[in-house]
Amino acid sequence: MDYRTVTEEQLDACTRVIDEAKNEVFYLVASATDPDVTYQVRYNKQYKVLSCTCKAAGSGNTCWHRRAVVEHNRQFKAAKKAEAQAQARQLRLEELGLTRDEAREALSHTLTVDGQPADDETLVRVFGPCTRRPAESEIEHMAVRYQPQSFSILR
Ligand SMILES: [Zn+2]
Repeated sequence: MDYRTVTEEQLDACTRVIDEAKNEVFYLVASATDPDVTYQVRYNKQYKVLSCTCKAAGSGNTCWHRRAVVEHNRQFKAAKKAEAQAQARQLRLEELGLTRDEAREALSHTLTVDGQPADDETLVRVFGPCTRRPAESEIEHMAVRYQPQSFSILR
């Protein structure tokens, strides 16, 4: 089966369903020819194959419903994985000192450094507020401000 032949329309016809009671995922696929008809595509654990309730599958032929489900499932898993990776990175940025909002803001930007995606440290430097990272000049300014007091003590 060539999954590259699956069209956007065929993917749109797929609905991922979770059967909580059976702890099972299956798909409803709308027929391309009859809008009132939906087929069920399920994974048969025993035979390790996808089954479809359409006529073609019933007579042992391949059908696009199963091809579409395989591709839909692949994209679903890829999206889930990307989501989990983004979540993990957000937590890392928070550990490095960004607030939750700053971390979200940082990840919503596509920041590149020399053609490479920016690393965590760079994101923290760009999206963290300057106030939490006192600059050299600020430290000097504070020292100057407190000097007269310490001089008066010495006198
Ligand atoms: Zn089918």
